[in-house]
Amino acid sequence: MSKSLRWSEKWFRRGLWLVALVFASFLIGLGSAVVGDLPRVEEPVLRDDFLDPAVAAPLKRTLDEGELAQQRIDDRREQAELQLRAAQQATQSARQSFAAWIATREATAQPSQDTALIERTRALDALQSEERTRSQQVQALRQEALDTRQAMAAAQRSLATETEAADARWLTARRSAELRVFLYRLALTLPLLGLAAWLFVRKRRSTYWPFVWGFILFAGFTFFVELVPYLPSYGGYVRSVVGIVLTVAIGRQAIVALNRYMQRQRQAERMPDAQRREALDYDKAQARLAKGVCPGCERSVDLKDGRTDFCPHCGMGLFDRCTACAARKSTFAAYCQACGCAAPGSTGRETAAGERAETAAAAPAA
Ligand SMILES: [Zn+2]
Ligand SMILES: [Zn+2]
Repeated sequence: MSKSLRWSEKWFRRGLWLVALVFASFLIGLGSAVVGDLPRVEEPVLRDDFLDPAVAAPLKRTLDEGELAQQRIDDRREQAELQLRAAQQATQSARQSFAAWIATREATAQPSQDTALIERTRALDALQSEERTRSQQVQALRQEALDTRQAMAAAQRSLATETEAADARWLTARRSAELRVFLYRLALTLPLLGLAAWLFVRKRRSTYWPFVWGFILFAGFTFFVELVPYLPSYGGYVRSVVGIVLTVAIGRQAIVALNRYMQRQRQAERMPDAQRREALDYDKAQARLAKGVCPGCERSVDLKDGRTDFCPHCGMGLFDRCTACAARKSTFAAYCQACGCAAPGSTGRETAAGERAETAAAAPAA
């Protein structure tokens, strides 16, 4: 991606970067759709699947039945208690009337009433025994309720222990399922990242560079951003380690490139002046001159003083005289700015313009 001076080329490049971004965004959309469908590869892990039904079902049945039984016992106990109270009242009033009757009997002392006494005593006994029976019934029902309650509590405790163990198994299974999903995703995204790295190294300057860069952006985004929500607890390590590896690889590449550039530069500076100028890209040389640096060694040179003809650092010729009109002109200019003559050695670089200039130059001579 050399720097261009041509206005349209600049805008074309910007447009192509936009193409790269749009391409990347569509790839990201496609990628996230694919990644989003991945969990369906795994069956969802349900909590209830880990409760042993052979153990849990009888416990749950005990609890359900216990609740119903308790309700039933409570109803019966209420009835029995009501009956007990009625019996108690009956005994109470019978006792009072018996006491009153005894008092009158002692007052009158009629022996003919002895049979009546026996009968009344018997009736009272019957009432008392009825009261005792009711009381026993209530006691029995209370005992039954207590038994049911204790059985339910025991079942509840066993179920809690069982659920706790099941939960532990469930968590383990869920964690390993999450890990598997993460590994699927990693298996999908890591090769993308590898391909992107290869494209970066080999193809980033190719003719189809917008697609190459689009893909590189997509792979980077997919790996470092899209994968994040699916990372397991140690997923941060994976991301950081890959980031470190990539940074080291890119950094190493940059250092090697810098050394290579320095070496090339030193070699170039030893070559003859004309050959060095020939080797330089026209647009690149112009861009460097515009920034006030020597196109050969890239060190800053005063180009505007009108006297500096050679780079004081590397000796490259920066200005010379036009062969036709002897005007002072840049050695990197293809044509003389004073007479329009093509500079020697520069013809053919700018074919159409060159021809025009050559005819223009030839006209006054003819
Ligand atoms: Zn120089
Ligand atoms: Zn000239």
